[in-house]
Amino acid sequence: MALGMIILGRQGSGKGTQAARIAHRYGVVHISTGDMLRSAVAEGTEMGLEAKVLMDAGDLVPDDVINGIVDERLAKADVVDGGFLLDGYPRTPGQADALVGFVGERLQLALNLDVSVDVVTERMMARGREDDSPESIARRLQLYEAETAPLLSWAEDRGILTVIDGLGGENDVFARLSVVIDAI
Ligand code: AMP
Repeated sequence: MALGMIILGRQGSGKGTQAARIAHRYGVVHISTGDMLRSAVAEGTEMGLEAKVLMDAGDLVPDDVINGIVDERLAKADVVDGGFLLDGYPRTPGQADALVGFVGERLQLALNLDVSVDVVTERMMARGREDDSPESIARRLQLYEAETAPLLSWAEDRGILTVIDGLGGENDVFARLSVVIDAI
C-alpha cells in the first residue's frame, strides 16, 4: 500500500521544509494546503480572494472550503498510486474527521514535529513571509493550541502518532523523521 502520512506541528516548526524532503526521498506527493491557498491567491480566483483576508489575519479558512480542496487533490491518480504527505492539514477536528472519510486506513502515520512556542515565534519573525505580522503570528499560535493541538490525542487514539524533536539542524531533524518512516 502507498504511504499515507500527515505532518503536524506549529507554524515555523520546519514542517514545510521537512515535508518537501520526505516527499523527495519516499516518492509520496507533498500536499501543502498553505501552498495551494497561496497559489489560489496568486491566480486571483474567487476562493483565493476570500482566503487572503483570513490568511493575512492569521485566521483559518473554513473547513468546508479546505476539505473540498483536499478531497479533490487526494482523488488524483498520482496520490492514489504514490501516496501522500499532507502538510498543514488537518488543522481542526472537523478536518481530521473529513480526512478519515477520504482516506480511511490509507492514513498510516502522523508525524508531530515538536518545537516550542518561543522558538517558532523567533523563526517566524525572522522569515518575513507576507502573512507574518506579529498579530497574525500570535493569532495562528493561539488557533494552533485551540484547534490543532487536540489532533495530537486524535492521532494517538488512532495509534498513528509519533513525536519528533524539531530542534537542531535540518539534516538532523530529517534523519529523525526518516528513522520513523523507514520503520513502517
Ligand atoms: P501555512 O502555509 O500552513 O502556514 O498556511 C498559511 C495560512 O493558510 C494559514 O494561516 C491559514 O490561514 C491558511 N490555511 C492553510 N491550511 C489550512 C487549513 N488546513 N485549514 C484552514 N486554514 C488553512
